[in-house]
Amino acid sequence: MAARQTCGQCGRRFYICLSKKLGCCLECFDGTPVDPGGYITPLASGTHRAAA
Ligand SMILES: [Zn+2]
Repeated sequence: MAARQTCGQCGRRFYICLSKKLGCCLECFDGTPVDPGGYITPLASGTHRAAA
């Protein structure tokens, strides 16, 4: 179930189910900006200030 809500490109998890055919969110597919409140940003990626 979670796999259908997680974008295979950017790794963000959405509250809605993504298109199974696309396998990614609309933003990765055609550049359509998605609602920032519509997904959970993974904490593990991005900045790595834990290195210090
Ligand atoms: Zn995406």
